[in-house]
Amino acid sequence: MAQEQLYACAKLLDLEDDVVRMLENPMQQVQVSVPVKMDDGTTNVFQGFRVMYNNVLGPAKGGIRFHPEETVDTVRALAAWMTWKCALLDLPLGGGKGGIICNTKELSEGELERLSRSYIDRIWKFIGPDVDVLAPDVYTTPQIMVWMMDEYSKLSGKNQFGVLTGKPIIAGGSAGRGDATAMGGMYTIREASKELGIDLSKTTIAIQGFGNVGSSVATLSQEFFGATVVAVSDSKGGVYNPDGLNIQEVIKHKAETKSVINAPNTQTITNNEVLELDVDIIIPAALENAITKDNAGNIKAKILAELANGPTTPEADEILYNNGVHVIPDFLCNAGGVTASYFEMVQNMYMYYWTAEEVYERLDKKMTKAYHEVLYASKNHNVNMRMGAYAVAVTRVVDAMKLRGWI
Ligand code: GLU
Repeated sequence: MAQEQLYACAKLLDLEDDVVRMLENPMQQVQVSVPVKMDDGTTNVFQGFRVMYNNVLGPAKGGIRFHPEETVDTVRALAAWMTWKCALLDLPLGGGKGGIICNTKELSEGELERLSRSYIDRIWKFIGPDVDVLAPDVYTTPQIMVWMMDEYSKLSGKNQFGVLTGKPIIAGGSAGRGDATAMGGMYTIREASKELGIDLSKTTIAIQGFGNVGSSVATLSQEFFGATVVAVSDSKGGVYNPDGLNIQEVIKHKAETKSVINAPNTQTITNNEVLELDVDIIIPAALENAITKDNAGNIKAKILAELANGPTTPEADEILYNNGVHVIPDFLCNAGGVTASYFEMVQNMYMYYWTAEEVYERLDKKMTKAYHEVLYASKNHNVNMRMGAYAVAVTRVVDAMKLRGWI
């Protein structure tokens, strides 16, 4: 998918073959075996990856996923998207991504800590505050970030807060980082609704995914937009109430039962049905490949805000474009997370910390500017918003590679 999108962009921008050769594969890909002493005394060996896709604009940047179905191919695609995301937001950062094949639901707290530390033991030579900076992603938490930062600091003999972002505030984190991905997405939805003439206080929203990002955007869109969230889902399925969900109740129910299903005053629906509801805005906030050629035609929403990475396949993109659905593409919509991560890096370097208000104000400026650059590019080239975003981001990366003499 990532390569297909890049080739389409290369065609649009008329990029030379050598440029495409430099961008179609990652610069570096590390695979490590990660041994972990389990609670029962046996040793398990997990497979871990860290991909640096491109670092022409600065140190690579991107999250770490802990997922049972992780593959190096997925990590590679996600690292490519991080490259375009950082370039699009005009951050002095390249793109990277990592992952470990594991099921966090089957690991004890102690095993999770040893896994996190062991992974760093294996990859520490390939990362660092000015080399490649890690962050949370699917099933990785601020606590996991602290274990990893602590391990890296021990190995390098000094405190190295800047080796990763998304840390808790007391351990070198930034105010506002926890909600930043959702908040950034909200700014882009606000801009899109102005463009489409939609009154956000009258909109209905359905959200696929109820992790950090999904639950946060559910709360914020009611709080700030006054919108009505009618459906949310997690990996086990979804809940729906046409009159609006009580999000705090759903959060509480999920904390108690590990799923949103059967939250009070809701009816159960499937993960796919969430996306096909007759609502104004749908927000995929889970995993890749949620919207394919099989369900894209059934989408009724006016705005599709991609808070997940890679939720829409290229075939689905075409169907959505022809049906007039306004897609806010992933590496624009969910860029609030990495933008606040960049702010966290800056604060770590300065050892001077900002308030949440300062973080959000700067975040809003960056997201709003990027949104309008993408909108302008898509109109200018007469392409969908995703290709507009590619045009802006790839041009910046290519310009820097040419200036540095890489091509
Ligand atoms: N994992 C997030 C993303 O996909 C954040 C990455 C970061 O902060 O480095 O954008």
